[in-house]
Amino acid sequence: MNIVLLGAPGAGKGTQAQRLTAEFGMAHISTGDLLRGAIAAGTPLGLEAKSYMDAGALVPDNLVLALIKERLASDDVKNGFILDGYPRNTAQAVTLDSVLAEMGKNLDAALLVAVDPAVIVDRLSRRRACKACGFTGNDTMTVCPRCGGEMYQRDDDKPATIQNRLDTYATKTAPLIEYFKGQDKLLEVDGQGDPDDVYVLVKEALGL
Ligand SMILES: [Zn+2]
Repeated sequence: MNIVLLGAPGAGKGTQAQRLTAEFGMAHISTGDLLRGAIAAGTPLGLEAKSYMDAGALVPDNLVLALIKERLASDDVKNGFILDGYPRNTAQAVTLDSVLAEMGKNLDAALLVAVDPAVIVDRLSRRRACKACGFTGNDTMTVCPRCGGEMYQRDDDKPATIQNRLDTYATKTAPLIEYFKGQDKLLEVDGQGDPDDVYVLVKEALGL
């Protein structure tokens, strides 16, 4: 099954993706992790991405797309994938459709994890990520449960940037939701409960 995950930053998309990956073996393709991984590994694409980020600029679409294409060609994508962090706007969704078609793949669903913005602000400020592997947890974790790495607060999750991210999300993603609705691929779950309860709703929506 090939899925795109939609939802505001902090809606819990990463947590749900990690669970689906563990239970059903789909590859979790997070653009944030891809970028961090390519930069850490010093690949040509990673070095290029770093030059933009160091200059405080957004990493261009075509570079992110190149990383995604590379990842989609990996062996572990044979059981399907969960794309997290891309597409972020309608133009990217159109591009993704054609990239997948070229690879003989297609999207089965766009799963929207819906959460109230006030809940998100609270959640995001408590989120912590692993410096080594990118695993995301909360401020009760000082050590990564996956690899033992150090957990820290990403700049993205600091209060000063949260509202800005939510505003950007609302502007860019509303048309994206309409796009997937138009393709009859949009599934929506209430993401406000406990992650275990949300996961039950996610599986129900996906028919898993
Ligand atoms: Zn880790």
